[in-house]
Amino acid sequence: MSNQYIIEPSQDTIFALSTPPGEGGIAVVRISGEHALSVARGVFRTRGPRGQDPEPRKMHRGDILGEDGELLDDGIMVYMPGPRSYTGEDLVEIHIHGSPVLVEALSEAIHKAGARPAQPGEFTLRAYLRGKLNLTQAEAVIDLVRAQSREGLRQAARHLHGSLGEKIEETRQRLISVLANLEAEIDFPEEIEEEGSRAEEREALRQAEREIQVLLAGFRFGRITQEGLRVAIVGRPNVGKSSLFNALLGRRRALVDREPGTTRDVVESAREIGGKRVVLYDTAGQREAAGHVEAEGMAIAEEFCQIADGILFVLDGSEELGEEDRGIADRLARSSRSLGEGGERTPPIVVVVNKSDLPLRIKEEEVEVIAAGSKVVRVSALTSEGLDRLRERISFLAGGREGAGETWISNLRHYRCLEGAAAEVRAGMRASERQTPVEFVAEHVRAAVGWLGEMLGNEFMSDREEVLNEIFSRFCLGK
Ligand code: GDP
Repeated sequence: MSNQYIIEPSQDTIFALSTPPGEGGIAVVRISGEHALSVARGVFRTRGPRGQDPEPRKMHRGDILGEDGELLDDGIMVYMPGPRSYTGEDLVEIHIHGSPVLVEALSEAIHKAGARPAQPGEFTLRAYLRGKLNLTQAEAVIDLVRAQSREGLRQAARHLHGSLGEKIEETRQRLISVLANLEAEIDFPEEIEEEGSRAEEREALRQAEREIQVLLAGFRFGRITQEGLRVAIVGRPNVGKSSLFNALLGRRRALVDREPGTTRDVVESAREIGGKRVVLYDTAGQREAAGHVEAEGMAIAEEFCQIADGILFVLDGSEELGEEDRGIADRLARSSRSLGEGGERTPPIVVVVNKSDLPLRIKEEEVEVIAAGSKVVRVSALTSEGLDRLRERISFLAGGREGAGETWISNLRHYRCLEGAAAEVRAGMRASERQTPVEFVAEHVRAAVGWLGEMLGNEFMSDREEVLNEIFSRFCLGK
């Protein structure tokens, strides 16, 4: 993860295997940069007329040559001169048979011919640096490759096509014209009719704020679609968390991966529930390792409130409600994040009363009290009774796409940029309403423009190098 990228357009020529490593039908090696074609000539002997440039964007058949000119394979080459290529530079693709030994031999030959191995994501980084893609499009490339569902794929494709970038640019332009008016007011105060222009400014700011809010509203839905619904199972020891985890996954405990020694020693596994990818976290593992049984259980409950999209709070129906159950309920209530629009808890909680195969000893009224409006489901992890109803409840935790438009965001970086922009727009509006000197209003609007610019990657409020390194280190090799 510690790749440091050269984040200025560089002159050297890079290459990488762009198909997955290993045996396969074909393998594609890409070469990009000023000398791409001459490097390719060193390893590829065309069967067409020699000496002239291969016709661009056409497939050419020829011999693949090794370091010392020996024949390695029979392959295909495509030449895409810049700027009409993925990277915006001269780009050559060489298609060979999918053999790891062959790929290695060809890579050595390409290296010797003058190109250096690319870093993960470097092709896309170059595309961004050369203005072929804005930053949201570059990020869409990785989202597309990593998509976990059809819906996630569709959204990534939309972003790659530029629909998110266009929306952001539209709002940014709206703010830029407000800024231009404000600057005119600063420079020529006597020529501007103040009241009318201030009202106009505020209307434009309100519109920009609405546009940003629509995108922010889609974030939860977008992230869940892209990465899955994160559901944590919490409760005191022995209520049946691990049993429930296994029952929901439909697997035996022995098959569940456990990763001890990580900071959050929880067992995590994913499956599809109600058409959505659900990532379940069983928090029992940490408790066993930690020793401080009660305190740990509660601390985990608290921690999961911060990262989960939903919580299953498990109680043992065959026993009376205990202090420990109440303690966890208190912690959950206290560490819930802000209340959602409809007054519901965030993250939403489902109270699961387990062991329904045994006589009921827990008092239902008491359960209702600690549920505090959350849904209560009775199940047996042992017999699977009630599990279908629980699965249905879990899929409801994902929520709908209320308030979200056709294009939504799923990336935390985008969320932060938009939040930054929205806060500045609101501050600008307040300053304008209070008749604060126009310089202050302009300052907020300028910052809002900056945040939207950072989202697109054409100006940076945060450290540019850090932002780019963070994004491109998530890429795979050859992309
Ligand atoms: P955890 O500590 O909360 O993870 O609980 P476990 O899943 O380890 O279960 C504790 C004990 O309760 C085990 O002996 C389980 O077999 C038992 N248990 C779990 N769920 C049920 C259930 O639905 N019915 C019955 N009768 N026993 C259960």
